Amino acid sequence: MSDQCLFCGIVAGDIPSVRVAEDDDTYAFMDINPAADGHLLVVPKRHSTDLMDISPDDLAAVTVTAQRIAKVAVTKLGADGVNLLNCCGAEAWQTVFHFHVHVVPRYADKTKDKLVLPWVPTPGDAGTIAALGERLAAAL
Ligand code: AMP
Ligand code: ZN
Repeated sequence: MSDQCLFCGIVAGDIPSVRVAEDDDTYAFMDINPAADGHLLVVPKRHSTDLMDISPDDLAAVTVTAQRIAKVAVTKLGADGVNLLNCCGAEAWQTVFHFHVHVVPRYADKTKDKLVLPWVPTPGDAGTIAALGERLAAAL
């Protein structure tokens, strides 16, 4: 628990939220700025800053909760698909520094869905792709 952390405050019940699900390790609540109908966040109850910081066990627990809710978004909200999104670091759009996964139900009906792909898929340089892949593989 971090005193200054918004999502720790939500997990503790000190800051109001629309709760969707809760278990020993995770808490899920509606996002107040939804990108699509039913957009929510899943967080670990134990504070961690981001993807670099979170324990493998908490990451697994958050992911399992996100999958459980994604299935309900499809079966009960009528979503046509779901995006899971995590932002790690300010440069990657993270604005709240308590790890969270966005669960964004997606719809063919665009009156319910404002999310758009944030890059234009364009073939990359094959040599650069291979070199970066090799650097990653060598470090793992
Ligand atoms: P990110 O930019 O990935 O760090 O996501 C932070 C998310 O938290 C944004 O989608 C915000 O809309 C959402 N958010 C911020 N404050 C609250 C709050 N009090 N209750 C629910 N969602 C919030
Ligand atoms: Zn926190």
